[in-house]
Amino acid sequence: MAEARSRQIIIAGAGIAGLTAALAFAVRGYPVRVFERAQRLDEVGAGLQLSPNATRILDRLGVLPGLRHTAVRPDAVVMRDASSLAELGRVPLGAAAEWRWKAPYLTCHRADLQGALLAHVAREPGIQLATGATVRDVSPHPLGLTVSIETAGRISQTSGTMLVAADGVWSDLRRLVSDAKSRFSGQVAWRRTVRAESVAGRSLAQIGVGGAVTAFLAPGLHLITYPVRAGSALNIVAITTGKAMDQTWSGAMDGKILRQAMKNAAPTLQGLAQDDGEWTAWPIHTVAPDARWTTPGGVALIGDAAHAMTPYAAQGAAMAIEDGETLAGHVLSRPDSLAAALAAWEKERRQRIDRVARRGSLNRFTWHAAGPVAAARNFILRVRKPERLATGLDWLYGWTPPALKL
Ligand SMILES: Cc1cc2nc3c(=O)[nH]c(=O)nc-3n(C[C@H](O)[C@H](O)[C@H](O)COP(=O)(O)OP(=O)(O)OC[C@H]3O[C@@H](n4cnc5c(N)ncnc54)[C@H](O)[C@@H]3O)c2cc1C
Repeated sequence: MAEARSRQIIIAGAGIAGLTAALAFAVRGYPVRVFERAQRLDEVGAGLQLSPNATRILDRLGVLPGLRHTAVRPDAVVMRDASSLAELGRVPLGAAAEWRWKAPYLTCHRADLQGALLAHVAREPGIQLATGATVRDVSPHPLGLTVSIETAGRISQTSGTMLVAADGVWSDLRRLVSDAKSRFSGQVAWRRTVRAESVAGRSLAQIGVGGAVTAFLAPGLHLITYPVRAGSALNIVAITTGKAMDQTWSGAMDGKILRQAMKNAAPTLQGLAQDDGEWTAWPIHTVAPDARWTTPGGVALIGDAAHAMTPYAAQGAAMAIEDGETLAGHVLSRPDSLAAALAAWEKERRQRIDRVARRGSLNRFTWHAAGPVAAARNFILRVRKPERLATGLDWLYGWTPPALKL
């Protein structure tokens, strides 16, 4: 009798995409092994926005309760002019978002989200997680795939039905699927987290950022701030043009670039830019979403490995979460053909990712605009009612995973 194809799912990367995928497969009854290159999952990173399309999935996977005590539910997204600080427009969040999109809009520290996912993974008997383990290669065998893993300089192998490559924007495993490369976008995210009680935190409170996501817009720059860590800290991210640098989430870059970009901003915002040593720089890389994400033999790229995008729509983590959930649903729905399941998943995801990426490009164009384009943007934001601005986001935040079997 022929041996049954293994049902084991092998995942490379314990970031947001890999951990969500692990849980999504496990709740559907698949045994899962996750291999993470880092020895320890440290507190690297800063804030993330989690829109309702993502929190809906986290709730379904049982992760949301573990996140709620550290995450913040902001009242609104408020757009302001970086120079005059005048409010240009707002999208109501808080209870209004939860009512409208049937799930909360949250802000959190990336480490808190990863921690909540990890806590859930640890409780799931069907998932084994190994750290300090780098997935190196994959080869086909008659009943699935054999994956090579390097741990402390030694190579071992494990086999399974498929490899989910969730190894991030600087993915090495992408080469198993396509020859696409990540590229520096020309933009740098300057990041800083301040305590709400610090001088910087209090100066931001004085200009009324309060419990909202506030985006300060200026030609060639935007600066976003929102509360994290149960409101005890504020995440601040400024996006400017910048120089290519090492592939890192927290590098150093000449603070003059930030100060120059903020030279026409209001004094409070300029003041933030003076504290040179407090900022870390993250060179934003993207992956053109037109290359393949799956192979018929059973490799699927998800999250940033597949389609890293600029953060203008604040959807990087949300798309990773959507990917993990929908991939598991598709694989379960076609037990007769993994190749067909992966092809159907890729087709469905491509439409959504393309639309989100287009929205990000539009935001970049309008948020960083100068002159007449900025004037037209400000006029539209001023005359459009907040509810109307929310309606324009229904397709994004109201999205629900297509009805797939649990
Ligand atoms: C350290 C870090 C800090 C970040 N900080 C922020 C932030 O502050 N704000 C923000 O918006 N986004 C941040 N991001 C990016 C954000 O997490 C992603 O854009 C989004 O969540 C998509 O996640 P992902 O799981 O696809 O990739 P990632 O979150 O990048 O996770 C990829 C994981 O794969 C692991 N890995 C890589 N290669 C291998 C391999 N061969 N084998 C096994 N494991 C491998 C990496 O160590 C990493 O843990 C950060 C990412 C990282 C890794």
